[in-house]
Amino acid sequence: MRANLDSLRTLVLNADMQPLSWAPLSVWPWQNALVAVLQDRVIQVKAYSDVKVRTSSDAYEIPSVIALKGYRKRATVAFTRYHLFLRDEFRCQYCGEQFPARKLTFDHVVPRSRGGKSNWLNIVSCCSADNIRKGNKTLKQAGMQLRRKPFEPSPFELDAIARRIPFIHGELHNTWLDFLYWDAELEN
Ligand SMILES: [Zn+2]
Repeated sequence: MRANLDSLRTLVLNADMQPLSWAPLSVWPWQNALVAVLQDRVIQVKAYSDVKVRTSSDAYEIPSVIALKGYRKRATVAFTRYHLFLRDEFRCQYCGEQFPARKLTFDHVVPRSRGGKSNWLNIVSCCSADNIRKGNKTLKQAGMQLRRKPFEPSPFELDAIARRIPFIHGELHNTWLDFLYWDAELEN
């Protein structure tokens, strides 16, 4: 049990009891979560039933799910590799095939050498074969087409996509599930 302690994490919900974010899923190391609970900054929703941390005088539950007391409004999505792959649902935007992240790369739709910017509107997920095919050419020169016009996703759009992409088995504690899959099931 001791060996597992370090790997325990706490799911963080917004005040509306939805995960603070799905992409990536909002989790804290349990130590941070416990401190926030003890300082009364967050609400403990569920705890790991099988472990406790002990000091010389006390024993504390380890929170498995906590909720913020105030609703945190979410603004924009950080422009990161992961978010870009997620926006494109890990699909090459030219052939439309889905790939694991390690097999995907990026394409500047308007090549950098022609003044193309590195932003949401000009970068798409791309497989290596299509990346080579396109090279430094424009779409027209390469005779290629985008599956979808690149866009800047909102936090909600990205969350919706993240929910459709299955989590790695074993990554989710069963106390988290109440907060994760209800919506997804309703949508299906
Ligand atoms: Zn491709």
